Amino acid sequence: MQKTVILLKPDCIEKNLAGEALSRFEKAGLKIRACKMMQLSKEILADHYSHLADKPFFPEIVSFMQSSPVIAIALEGRDAIAGVRELLGPTDSKAAPKGTIRGDLGTDKMRNIAHASDSEETAAAELKRFFAPGEIY
Ligand code: ADP
Repeated sequence: MQKTVILLKPDCIEKNLAGEALSRFEKAGLKIRACKMMQLSKEILADHYSHLADKPFFPEIVSFMQSSPVIAIALEGRDAIAGVRELLGPTDSKAAPKGTIRGDLGTDKMRNIAHASDSEETAAAELKRFFAPGEIY
């Protein structure tokens, strides 16, 4: 069993698609182990997107991710990390296949509905980044 972190991004919240996105994960058998709404700080975003710090679109991502609160969720299941990424689809919503969350609900490369941890290492770091130990059940 693995735990993974998803963030329902501002476009997801603004389009009233939080329930739709979460329902797809639940229907795939993933269990909710933590869930909270948060306004992300510049500091937490600099940490979370440190691999993109030198990209020209980095300030735009930070501003987008701060445009409304997000919903941070820890999901648990067998092979949850790869499974959740597969349900989500590739980064660019326009290139994401129909049937994936980004392909069906996303807008473009940046407005792509949700973040999901991409490895065991990032999942462990993100569980710590977004949740206190007592918030994960
Ligand atoms: P993923 O979220 O699929 O793991 P990355 O870690 O590469 O993708 O990027 C993190 C986030 O930064 C993306 O989900 C998206 O919101 C944004 N992003 C990535 N590439 C671009 C781009 N070329 N233009 C605008 N935003 C981007």
